[in-house]
Amino acid sequence: MQKPAGPRSAIFHGPGSSQLLAPLEALLGKGNHLHAHQLNSRGYPYGSRTLNRFHFVGPAGGDNYTRLGIFSGIHGDEVAGSLAAVRFLHELVQEPSLARGYEIFLYPVCNPTGYADGTRHSRSGLDLNREFWKNSEQPEILLLEREIRQLRFDGFLSLHADDTSDGLYGFALGHTHAVNILKPSLEAASKILPTNRRRRIDNFPARHGIVRRRYPGMLGPAPGTRPKPLEIVLETPALASIPDQVDSSLLALRTILEEHRALLSFSQNL
Ligand SMILES: [Zn+2]
Repeated sequence: MQKPAGPRSAIFHGPGSSQLLAPLEALLGKGNHLHAHQLNSRGYPYGSRTLNRFHFVGPAGGDNYTRLGIFSGIHGDEVAGSLAAVRFLHELVQEPSLARGYEIFLYPVCNPTGYADGTRHSRSGLDLNREFWKNSEQPEILLLEREIRQLRFDGFLSLHADDTSDGLYGFALGHTHAVNILKPSLEAASKILPTNRRRRIDNFPARHGIVRRRYPGMLGPAPGTRPKPLEIVLETPALASIPDQVDSSLLALRTILEEHRALLSFSQNL
């Protein structure tokens, strides 16, 4: 698998996000396999703000690297996801074997203006998580769609929070991914926050905290991508304490990486 362009480490500290991202400066380079890139958009109308992408390459784990995209903060007011994403980068640097066999691209603040303003929508008034693959002109969408097209992720993990849910839950499409990856990750995270066990969540049928649907226009692979990538959306209960949401998300992320790795090696040995 082709490696992306060499290390160029620079974090863009947009309004509102510098406090979140500043601690990552100390982790860049210096023998750590963490690098930062700024994605520039000429058309970005709110000053020169850009999205930050962090790149971490884990130790080799076989013939191929599995390429994961981890996305948070597409809803600007769901801060636990962005905090969890940043904490996850710290954990990866401290414990690189977590990412054995993975190349991880992480976008902690996908909606910079919403993050700065503390709003779900971007400053253009749109829910960006309904704009993908619909010829949207939104600069955040253009940047992220370009990333998704160029990097051809094998997996998409999105972190969200839901203020109408009293427990953790998630979205997964395929049966295998729902049962073998999302289910154990919710179980691991339930050490900290309970799973939402309702039979309907967010107006979708649900079982064991798992919804097997997706919203049109939500962040994910381009339509028709084959083979179908792993797609998991994790939702923490937004009214729970932020540290609990972050800690449970971290447990879930670790478990997703472990279980996905196990599933891949199992299917390669068939
Ligand atoms: Zn959300």
